[in-house]
Amino acid sequence: MPGGPTAAGASPLAPLTDAGLEVPVLGGATVRHVNLDVAASAPALQSVAAHVARVLPYYSSVHRGSGYPSQAATALVEDARVSVARHVGARDGDLVVFTRNTTEALNLLATAVPGEVVVLDIEHHANLLPWRDRRVVVARPSIAETLVALEAELASRPAALLSVTGASNVTGEVLPLADLARIAHAHGARIAVDAAQLLPHRRVDLAASDLDYLAFSGHKAYAPFGAGALIGRGDWLDTAPPFLAGGGAVENVAIEQVEWKTGSDRHEAGTPNVVGIAALARALVELERLGDAEREAHEAGLTARLHDGLASLPGVRVIRGFEDATDRLAIATVELDHGSVGLLAAALGAEHGISVRAGRFCAHPFFDRVSSRSNGLRASLGAGSTIDDVDRFVAALAQLVVDGP
Ligand code: PLP
Repeated sequence: MPGGPTAAGASPLAPLTDAGLEVPVLGGATVRHVNLDVAASAPALQSVAAHVARVLPYYSSVHRGSGYPSQAATALVEDARVSVARHVGARDGDLVVFTRNTTEALNLLATAVPGEVVVLDIEHHANLLPWRDRRVVVARPSIAETLVALEAELASRPAALLSVTGASNVTGEVLPLADLARIAHAHGARIAVDAAQLLPHRRVDLAASDLDYLAFSGHKAYAPFGAGALIGRGDWLDTAPPFLAGGGAVENVAIEQVEWKTGSDRHEAGTPNVVGIAALARALVELERLGDAEREAHEAGLTARLHDGLASLPGVRVIRGFEDATDRLAIATVELDHGSVGLLAAALGAEHGISVRAGRFCAHPFFDRVSSRSNGLRASLGAGSTIDDVDRFVAALAQLVVDGP
């Protein structure tokens, strides 16, 4: 399969900046690092890093300077805005507000919502804690029943917004966004999608799925740290209090009175992360170039191998949220019959050079509902991962589960 998983080393589909990275393990040897914590932060694409190196010399303030570097920096930010809007299918009137990450994007939206917000209990804390007037619906064993429960909640009392994750960061299960949008709109609510996990792995399109808001982070989408975005309807954002008060967000300031701008500027006071924004926009273009279908096929191969491998291990159970989920990202969280996942994760790193994550993944209510244990161990992969990564993980896990960390 062109662009399919390779036996070893870096994926030819999406070489990342950590491809071939060697890390020390106990005993003094070094081994090729296996990064199975891509859902937390994905290393940048090599092509994005090259773009950063090209734009870095144009280090200058945006919108205000008169020289060439300032004009170039301004163009980088404004072109990035157009490019991000196009990538996510933004409509006329939608704003692209650059933020630090998804968390900040959702906190910004929370200042703009004129009413109550309905969420599911499966959410990452970033899509749970920012909402002041939140109503939490406990997800049901199936997606189908969960949609019915959400519809009942929205019908019982009006809400301004339904805010849902595009995909669970614990199970990788993907939610049916167009169906959720239909339900929200039928009851007079808007819909926001926390696309932190989904967007790097599936194309998300505001117009096609009839979504009102989308939040995501560059560092999970193969760009360096530091930039994210909130995209969506301009009206709420134009009337919300400015997210940050300061230079760039104002038309005019007198001592007694401030005239705030509308549009993205209103919420982007201060000098922006020009390099991060340029990198974020470039990463999305690079993902398009790699091809949605190719990436999905590559990751589907990894997902199947991962789940088959885990199913073969005694005393290891994969956590699931929904019995009828048909699409899932290359993420698996397991719980153990015996032993500590914390020790296991440490041993995977120290003895095998494999990075995973142990914990409750900033989704405590969900984790505590679906798992009987206090912590899980999560492996997450992406376009830069290989079949060899999966096989090394499963083999190491098999050895550690039998022998103990
Ligand atoms: N939403 C989901 C589903 C996530 O997985 C994460 C991070 O893991 C976030 C939001 C928060 O992302 P960030 O830390 O980039 O703000």
